[in-house]
Amino acid sequence: MTSLPLSIVIPVYNEELNLPTLFARLYPALDALGKRYEIIFTNDGSHDRSIELLRAQHAARPDVTRVIDFNANYGQHMAIMAAFERVRGDVIVTLDADLQNPPEEIHKLLAKIDAGHDYVGGYRLERQDSFFRTYASKLINFVREKTTSIEMTDQGCMLRAYSRPIIDAIVRSGAINTFIPALAYSFSGNPAEVGVKHEERHAGVSNYSFYSLIRLNFDLITGFSIAPLQYFTMFAMACSGGSFALVAVLLVRRFIFDNLDRDTFGVFTLLAFVLFFLSVAMIGIGLIGEYVGRTYQVVRARQRYHVKEVLETK
Ligand code: UDP
Ligand code: MG
Repeated sequence: MTSLPLSIVIPVYNEELNLPTLFARLYPALDALGKRYEIIFTNDGSHDRSIELLRAQHAARPDVTRVIDFNANYGQHMAIMAAFERVRGDVIVTLDADLQNPPEEIHKLLAKIDAGHDYVGGYRLERQDSFFRTYASKLINFVREKTTSIEMTDQGCMLRAYSRPIIDAIVRSGAINTFIPALAYSFSGNPAEVGVKHEERHAGVSNYSFYSLIRLNFDLITGFSIAPLQYFTMFAMACSGGSFALVAVLLVRRFIFDNLDRDTFGVFTLLAFVLFFLSVAMIGIGLIGEYVGRTYQVVRARQRYHVKEVLETK
C-alpha cells in the first residue's frame, strides 16, 4: 500500500442534498493545496440516493475517490473508524458531509501539523447550530472536562487533522461506540487547536435526534473515564449517611422527646425520602448498566460494522 501526503475522511448518512455542493467545493479546495490526496467517503447505511451519488463521484474521479459502503447505519464515529482502517495518508483530516465544516479551512489544520503537532482539533468560531444544540453541547463539554482528563475547546467540531501514528493507535485500540476526537486526544503527545469557520447545514436537518445525542454523549463520558461511577458511589455514601441521621432524629423525637406528629409529618417525609432514594438507586443501576453493557460488547468481540462494498482504484 503506497502512502500519500493527505487523506480526507467523510462520513455520509442521508446527505443526497449536500453531496453535489460538497464535491464542487471540496475537490477544488484540495487541488489548491498542491498535495497528492485521497478522499474516503463512508456511506453509513443511507436510505436516500447518497450511495448512487458517491458511486458517480468515484467514477468521475477514481484517482482520488474511495467509497466504503456499510450494510447498515453504525453511526458517524464507526463510519470514520472504517475509513481510518484503510487510509493511506500521512496526515488524515476528518470533516462532515453537510458543509458545516468548510473544506476551504483544511489548510489551517495542515499548517499546524507542519509545525510539528501530531493532532489538531478545530473549534468552531461562531457556531451555527440551534440554541438548544449549542448550549447542550457547552454543558457536555463542561461535564467531560470535569470527569476526564481530555482538554478540548470544542469536542463536537469534527474538522480535525491527525498524524499517521495517532490513526494507527486509534485503529489498534479496537474501540467500540467511541468518540473519535477524544480517543485521538488520549493518544496524542503534542496536540494543538485552531479556530475554524462553521456554516449552517447546507441542506436537510441534523441526523442526530435527541436520543442519539444522549447515546453519543454517554459514549463520551463513560468511554473515557470511570469517574461517574466513583462520583455516584460517593454520592450514595453521603445519601446513606444522611438517611441514617434522619432515622436517628426520628427515633429521638419519637421516644425521647415524644413530640413527633406521626400521622402528618412522619408519613410524608418518609414517603418523600423513600422515593428519593429509590430514584438514586435507579440512576446507579442505569449507570452501572452502561459500563456492563460496554464490557459486554467488548467481551462479545463481534465485529463493529459490516462493510458491504469498497469502491477504489488500487
Ligand atoms: N453521520 C453519519 N452517521 C450517522 C449520523 C451522521 O455518518 O448516523 C454523518 C453525517 O452525514 C455528517 C456527520 O456525520 O457528515 C455529522 O452529522 P450531522 O450533520 O447530522 O450532525 P450535527 O452536525 O448536527 O452534529
Ligand atoms: Mg451537521
